[in-house]
Amino acid sequence: MTHRFRVLLACCVFFLSPLFSLAQGNHKDLLRLLDASPADADIIQLPIRFHLVHGATMEKKGVSMNMWISETNIRREIIPEINRIWQPARITWVIESIREVHVADTPDCTAHLKEIAQSNRETSGRTKMIMEVIDTSHRHPAIHNLYFFPYVGETLQGFAFFGGGLSIPDNPDGGTMCVVCAWTDKPSGARHPPHKFDLCEPLPFKQGSVSRTCSHELGHNLLLQHPDKETQTITKRLMGGKQKGYGLTFDEVALARSVARNRISTIKKWLATHP
Ligand SMILES: [Zn+2]
Repeated sequence: MTHRFRVLLACCVFFLSPLFSLAQGNHKDLLRLLDASPADADIIQLPIRFHLVHGATMEKKGVSMNMWISETNIRREIIPEINRIWQPARITWVIESIREVHVADTPDCTAHLKEIAQSNRETSGRTKMIMEVIDTSHRHPAIHNLYFFPYVGETLQGFAFFGGGLSIPDNPDGGTMCVVCAWTDKPSGARHPPHKFDLCEPLPFKQGSVSRTCSHELGHNLLLQHPDKETQTITKRLMGGKQKGYGLTFDEVALARSVARNRISTIKKWLATHP
């Protein structure tokens, strides 16, 4: 693929300044976020910057979809659930900051939003359009960035980026960007209008949640791929397949931890060169 980033579809430039920042991080704070407590030396802590995309109101089947997820939702519900899901890998995601950003005020923006609202898995250029209407000017260059966007297409719930290939030699520290929707029509197979995506879902897995989709997309950022439905023997997995769930296989844990360790090294190198 010639594009700088490869795109993994989940189960997937021209920007305005952010409205404001809810919590500004700095280098000293970021360095501290990398260190787990000495009692949990086996834990790998990965900093993450969340971005709430506002101003991207989209209409579908009589529903007006906007950004309803809040900083409080992220802190109290989403990040604890992501960390519950990633606990078997002994990876903990820590919030570096939460940013509120706006969409681009360009002539194409309104048309793109209409097209995204009507898009499906076959729509050409869907992810490109979404990324073109999101303000990524406050993307952190070294840590993970997760963007919440109102709606990403029919029966779709998110997508993730990573650069340079699927193997650790090609892409040692994975990708740093992913997008997750706040509205979904996947549970009904798009037979019903989109509805607000549940932030969390009580066990066991039934329809999924914002938090599970975040965990899945972050898995792609750590180079995890979808299981092959034809050959998979382990089911109920976070990365999808025949039956979805929360499970991470031994190999997935090993790969994710390797990539996560390499990400920490990259972040430390970036901090050393950006005092
Ligand atoms: Zn996926």
